[in-house]
Amino acid sequence: MNAALDAHALKREALSRAMREGAGPIGLAKETSNLFRDREQAARRRLDVRAMSEVLSVDARAGRVECEGMATYEALVDACLPHGVMPAVVPQLKTITLGGAVAGIGIEATSHRHGLVHEAVEEIEVLTGDGRILACTRDNEYADLFFGFPNSYGTLGYALRVAARTAPVKPFVHVRHLPFTDANAFFAAVGGHCADDEADFIDGTIFAPDRMYLSLARFVDEAPATSDYTGVEAIYYRSIEQKREDWLTAKDYIWRWDTDWFWCSKNVYAQNPLVRRLYGRERLGSRTYSKIMRWNSRVGLTRAIDRMRGVHGESVIQDVDIPVEHAAGFLAFLAREVGIWPVWMCPIGPREDAARWSLYPMERRLYVNFGFWDVVRTREAREPGHCNRAIEREVARLAGIKSLYSESFYPREEFDARYGGEAYAALKARYDPRGSFPTLYEKCVLRR
Ligand SMILES: Cc1cc2nc3c(=O)[nH]c(=O)nc-3n(C[C@H](O)[C@H](O)[C@H](O)COP(=O)(O)OP(=O)(O)OC[C@H]3O[C@@H](n4cnc5c(N)ncnc54)[C@H](O)[C@@H]3O)c2cc1C
Repeated sequence: MNAALDAHALKREALSRAMREGAGPIGLAKETSNLFRDREQAARRRLDVRAMSEVLSVDARAGRVECEGMATYEALVDACLPHGVMPAVVPQLKTITLGGAVAGIGIEATSHRHGLVHEAVEEIEVLTGDGRILACTRDNEYADLFFGFPNSYGTLGYALRVAARTAPVKPFVHVRHLPFTDANAFFAAVGGHCADDEADFIDGTIFAPDRMYLSLARFVDEAPATSDYTGVEAIYYRSIEQKREDWLTAKDYIWRWDTDWFWCSKNVYAQNPLVRRLYGRERLGSRTYSKIMRWNSRVGLTRAIDRMRGVHGESVIQDVDIPVEHAAGFLAFLAREVGIWPVWMCPIGPREDAARWSLYPMERRLYVNFGFWDVVRTREAREPGHCNRAIEREVARLAGIKSLYSESFYPREEFDARYGGEAYAALKARYDPRGSFPTLYEKCVLRR
């Protein structure tokens, strides 16, 4: 056993003890978060997991990386690249942790090949609600927890150690941005490129219903020159409309969306040239913006400004997965009912096991993820969650599924039907018999 694993075992025992010795509801104490769901600040014991953030091993030949549950993807990528590999699916924001992305749902432009983050995971070591530590794999006695952990959001246990698959990298990435004006042609091209599997990365940016770009990227050994979107000068999402092709280093490509949080940095004025200089290269990035947004949510600055301007704002921060056949229909709905632009698009290839993930069941077919994150403002007041509820209805109508990291409004029966309620009840009884964690419905819908 290497020293890192020994140290991990000691930390693990301490957390297990803390879990067993205390009583009452528990929550995580960690430094960063990418959750956009304001919750009641109920009194709960906090389990300090900040030390659980080491990368334990990288085995490029076996195609496997092992790390502690709170290791950030930034640390993981830094550990993997010198070995010529990257985690098979790397969510776009540097502070997302592997444990968080498995407990929530993570996706990126390699998902057409590898599926969602959890589908490239081989083992999850879970600290359960009653203090047990269980190593779960897809075929051992804890396979029910392995397949039930994704989308459990810390309500069945905490991932303390995760082993995930890696994929080989080359030094540079060559990306081509293909323009489209028609949604049916756009999604037909998505399907075609997923089927031929030539691109290492596939995603897209929809600036308007008739301004769509499909970005196809491949690893290459050499580049004529590389672009830099990590500083104050250039912004990646804007380059998509300006350039037909581009080259980035592998690392810059992996983090291409982090510097401007896709495009959401505009909400903290970081795209204003002067303010951008004041931020400076070091502070541009999702780590800074999420702190500002959290502060804003606490003090209510945006809400106060909206009140002064006489407008009503609804935060619409959602990622939804829609079967590709219905993708053009969903886009038309977004244009008609929501009107947030740009929208991020990312295909998720058909996977044999798609239906087995009990709390996030999908079918064995090609899906398209739509990510849209902004505030919808109207002059007239609407019922709370007006747009978010309409999105839930449309996703259901089109046989899709919605991530739960932000607001949800489903009635309890519908929620149970969509997110594996029966399997969840059995998992809860087996792995959280003392009720240390809230239920998924309490956490994600009632925000307790
Ligand atoms: C604006 C925005 C954009 C996003 N964009 C993307 C995207 O492009 N791609 C993508 O893949 N994902 C995206 N996400 C979703 C993100 O991957 C999930 O919210 C993920 O759960 C965040 O992980 P985290 O490590 O930051 O965890 P946190 O935000 O700290 O926690 C998220 C939830 O997971 C639980 N949790 C955290 N760590 C663990 C653990 N080790 N074991 C068990 N439960 C745990 C927490 O209790 C909490 O309920 C986005 C989220 C937001 C808010």
